Amino acid sequence: MNNYQTVFLGLGGNLGNIQANLQQAVVLLQKAVGELITQSSIYQTRAWGRNEQPDFLNQVLCFKTQLPANELLTAIQTIETLLGRKREEHWGARTMDIDILFYGQECIHTPTLLVPHPYIAQRRFVLVPLVEIAGDWLHPQTQKSMRELLFECEDKLEVNYLAI
Ligand code: ATP
Ligand code: CA
Ligand code: CA
Repeated sequence: MNNYQTVFLGLGGNLGNIQANLQQAVVLLQKAVGELITQSSIYQTRAWGRNEQPDFLNQVLCFKTQLPANELLTAIQTIETLLGRKREEHWGARTMDIDILFYGQECIHTPTLLVPHPYIAQRRFVLVPLVEIAGDWLHPQTQKSMRELLFECEDKLEVNYLAI
């Protein structure tokens, strides 16, 4: 039996009924991944990287899981497909994107998996929800807290709390 790991997942979408897809993702992830510990609010953000597309809704979830990291990746990809994600261009519009942000304090470098997710420190849409639920969590490579990373982040894209 594997030990439990605390994992943070970053969810985002900008096509279809995004709020319904986020809710559905939470339900499916609880079944596939494990116990949901915390969920951030939902934030509305301009598209990062390629901006000629609709705004995104983003949310960060914290789970306790017994899945090894590679099985967690397979599980989230299955859920992306279930929620209608098609193969599309990198950083393009999508119904649901689920990224593994942190897998405990582990650093993983395989051809299919980089953990911590390499762009956390560059993305306000990830750091703002992370600070909401885990401001003191440390990045295992820099030992900086999420709060420090947000303070230092140079990303200028607006991240707005979505009142629902
Ligand atoms: P970004 O990773 O910059 O947010 P993206 O989410 O648009 O970009 P995708 O097209 O969803 O990228 O994923 C491409 C591949 O990234 C996946 O097939 C997966 O193997 C790989 N990958 C590497 N590290 C991770 C991670 N931490 N979480 C999810 N996928 C990852
Ligand atoms: Ca992503
Ligand atoms: Ca992804």
